[in-house]
Amino acid sequence: MEKITADDIRYPDLAEKRFNTRYTGKPESIFIPGSAEDVVTAVQAAADSKRRLAVRSGGHCLEGFVSDPAVQVLIDMSFMNNIYYDRGRSAFAVEAGATVGEMYRRLFLGWGVVLPAGEHPNIGVGGHVLGGAFGFLCREYGLAADHLYGIELVTVDRSGKAHIVTATREESDPNREVWWAHTGCGGGNFGIVTRYWLRSPGSDGSNPATALPKAPSTITTFRVSWDWNNFDKTKFSQLVGDFGSWAQANSGPESPNRQLFSLLFLNHRNLGKLEMKGVCTAGPQAMQLIDEHLAAIADPLGLKYTRQIEETAWLQFALNPFPELFQPGYDKVKAKIKDALLRRPFSKSQIATIYKYLTGSDPVGGGLGMATYGGRVNAVMPEATASAQRDCILDIACNTGWADPAGEAASIGWVSNFYKDLFADSGGVPVPNADNGGCMINHPDTDLADPKWNSSGIPWHTLYYRDNYPRLQRVKEKWDPGNVFYHALSIRP
Ligand SMILES: Cc1cc2nc3c(=O)[nH]c(=O)nc-3n(C[C@H](O)[C@H](O)[C@H](O)COP(=O)(O)OP(=O)(O)OC[C@H]3O[C@@H](n4cnc5c(N)ncnc54)[C@H](O)[C@@H]3O)c2cc1C
Repeated sequence: MEKITADDIRYPDLAEKRFNTRYTGKPESIFIPGSAEDVVTAVQAAADSKRRLAVRSGGHCLEGFVSDPAVQVLIDMSFMNNIYYDRGRSAFAVEAGATVGEMYRRLFLGWGVVLPAGEHPNIGVGGHVLGGAFGFLCREYGLAADHLYGIELVTVDRSGKAHIVTATREESDPNREVWWAHTGCGGGNFGIVTRYWLRSPGSDGSNPATALPKAPSTITTFRVSWDWNNFDKTKFSQLVGDFGSWAQANSGPESPNRQLFSLLFLNHRNLGKLEMKGVCTAGPQAMQLIDEHLAAIADPLGLKYTRQIEETAWLQFALNPFPELFQPGYDKVKAKIKDALLRRPFSKSQIATIYKYLTGSDPVGGGLGMATYGGRVNAVMPEATASAQRDCILDIACNTGWADPAGEAASIGWVSNFYKDLFADSGGVPVPNADNGGCMINHPDTDLADPKWNSSGIPWHTLYYRDNYPRLQRVKEKWDPGNVFYHALSIRP
């Protein structure tokens, strides 16, 4: 395996591969391993020379954990992208460098199955699954990590030696704790995952076609759009309140509506539209579920709206979901996302805060997205996986993006103050309590570790991991005792 440095024609492509172009990095060397043994070699070289190391799979990190000027050695996993059924493990093997889209394609065409994972096909499996990973099908089938059977991982031991270890969820596996940590710890914490093994709990894996959930044959999508100008504060409150009430009534593990996943886009008024988009996998019942959903949220407003409903073959949808969301240029964005999981709908005063920020005169682009959560995600105990939030009804995110660097300060200031005011009752952050569930580590936000933005007295790790953090620290102590793998929000030894 070659070491690629700045004088190599491949360097600019490799060094600049990232979704969030807000961050930059200039590693001294980049490795593209083709096997777990190659990863051991690269990690050992970095550890021996005491160089700061980071791993990248899909490059979709929302914070600068990989694209950090302090990172000296970058390990790019994109050559390790095999996907196959491993008869020896009775589970699907997916190498860390595969994209979510390629995984959807291979699992579907090969066996008609699906891993319920994230929404954007270019996300890397490597940094995604170990963060829990929610998406369009999570209410029906749970998080991606709920179907994680095992991992192959390169770690560095107390003596500084790099090793390949495997760990599975089998009770008898002596390495089970490090498997558990990878069901929600987030990337860059204990080592480099080279391969995931996937098999749903309850399947013995003897038949690949039932080792993961059966994929839907078709998916019904809906899109609703309103003219922002038709909303005053009362109508806006009604829309946000009704969306929250629907989520609350339909977030239980047995909800008859768990095959429906819905997103409300509360855009800044200067973008002109408020929108809802969603998917339903209920086949012939889909239209009825969508009609009932819109009857609970859109119709009571009494405002004119456009409505578009389409049935699409599953794979076509999975590889290009809602194309209008991911248009050219979207992958060159500079962005800041501030995420929260809710246990109850927004209160009246929170809705007033949202209205204020979305109708102000600030020259920014952005908004607040609300995604329905729960369903089968809430069927799992908080300690069964490292993804502790098993009692939430909504995942929300205040977000902003800008292209011109001159817009950064205004955009960041707007989104940070918006989030802080939204959670003003709990120190500017969604402290886990009766109303909030904390935050999702796949959407990391370093502000949570900054007392300027988190005055709750509750540390960032409680927001992400709740009561699971001490256990994750014990795993860290055992599997990365030298803290070789770290970033701004990594598990502290
Ligand atoms: C457009 C977009 C849409 C998204 N949609 C969703 C969604 O629907 N659901 C959801 O849950 N999340 C979503 N996310 C968040 C996404 O899951 C995380 O950003 C995830 O960490 C990306 O993984 P990656 O491999 O692409 O990123 P990378 O930037 O390569 O890595 C992210 C982090 O994981 C670490 N890492 C990468 N590979 C490995 C590995 N092999 N072993 C150990 N650590 C590793 C990195 O060092 C870094 O800390 C989205 C993000 C974007 C940008």
